[in-house]
Amino acid sequence: MVQRAPDATHVERLSEVGRYALGVLWGDKHDSILPYRNLRFACPCEACGAAPAEAPAPDATRPVKLELIGDRSLFIGWADGHETFLLLDELRDLCRCARCAGEPDYPI
Ligand SMILES: [Zn+2]
Ligand SMILES: [Zn+2]
Repeated sequence: MVQRAPDATHVERLSEVGRYALGVLWGDKHDSILPYRNLRFACPCEACGAAPAEAPAPDATRPVKLELIGDRSLFIGWADGHETFLLLDELRDLCRCARCAGEPDYPI
């Protein structure tokens, strides 16, 4: 696992980006846009691990509750009644922006 500065997994602000994605501003000023669909797919609970939904129902990717639990994890309550706890470390791993995907900032 990548070693990160503590700031990199501290959430400054959560916001809604359109209807389908969560915006996260991290303590190190990095901005992530995370589609709810990806968050649901990343649910680490046993039920999701055993039977990953290939085509989730619309309610399965619509959060009704988003809440930070301390400074370590994020709780997501979904419209279909499912609940997901993600470590902020895991959340940051889901960022697929050019920088996080490993593309160099400056081409060599
Ligand atoms: Zn789950
Ligand atoms: Zn990123």
